[in-house]
Amino acid sequence: MSGDGAAPTDPVVVALDVGGTGMKCALVRPDGVAVRTERHPTDAARGPAAVAATILDVAEGLADKARADGLTPVAVGIAVPGVVDEARGVAVWSANVGFRDVPLRDLAARRLGLPTALGHDVRAGGLAEARLGAGRGTGHVLFVAIGTGIAAAHVVDGHAAVGAHGAAGEIGHILVRPDGPRCGCGRPGCLEAVASAAAVGRRYAELAGEAADAPVSAAEVAERAAAGEPLASQVWQETVEALADGLASGQALFDVATIVLGGGLAQAGDLLLTPLRAALHERMTFHREPQLVAAALGDEAGCLGAALLAMDAVRGHDHQEKR
Ligand SMILES: [Zn+2]
Repeated sequence: MSGDGAAPTDPVVVALDVGGTGMKCALVRPDGVAVRTERHPTDAARGPAAVAATILDVAEGLADKARADGLTPVAVGIAVPGVVDEARGVAVWSANVGFRDVPLRDLAARRLGLPTALGHDVRAGGLAEARLGAGRGTGHVLFVAIGTGIAAAHVVDGHAAVGAHGAAGEIGHILVRPDGPRCGCGRPGCLEAVASAAAVGRRYAELAGEAADAPVSAAEVAERAAAGEPLASQVWQETVEALADGLASGQALFDVATIVLGGGLAQAGDLLLTPLRAALHERMTFHREPQLVAAALGDEAGCLGAALLAMDAVRGHDHQEKR
């Protein structure tokens, strides 16, 4: 609330989801509705210092626009990829943005003068799907993002587990095929080396060999499989089986009510969900079978999750002040 007799204004949080190519940014109300959205290029090739400077500029710009619209920015939430130390607010390591121990939370808090939370992009996305999206109301949610890699967030009662080192949720590096292709992490047969969107395209090209006219995306493989093309059907079936193995491990560990699938591969919709539900069902012995659903928030999930982290930071801040 500002002084000089001004009317009380509606609170919003400033939310940013920083990816390797772009930043999704928004002003979000406490009820989860974005009142302004913006996209900015990350341009990671400029180096991590320049990216961090852009993050601060964009956040400050959004806070100024909020005030100009008669809103009150009360906190900032920033989601970034890689290894994130949420307790210290440090972007520890990121392959695609280049962060190495960047104290983004404190930098933003100092620049904007607002409580700030720093989170991991997939965990933020999972938080949003669990609290506002496809997992809403189900309490225990495993969000699995399947894109160029595969990562997960385990959300219990609206909070995503971070891990001791900020690296929880790396379900893409569960071993599913000991004799499988080598993963980017250096080990053979990781789930993401077999079943990420990138891996599906690679596998199809490998099997098609000389017959491959051009690179084929995972979405096209799904469609060709649905149309009955034998090669695509084989690749899709392999993908589904590997994902089911990975998700069955996840369910054995976490016993969730709902598994929410996001990322590019999940856009295949029922072409993925229907066979994957069947394959997961086959793998459940004494385990309780989770609901398997597609993400509801699309590529807004990370930004909305950053907003939720910001709102949680305000609550934590208020709580501390009252003590
Ligand atoms: Zn791996």
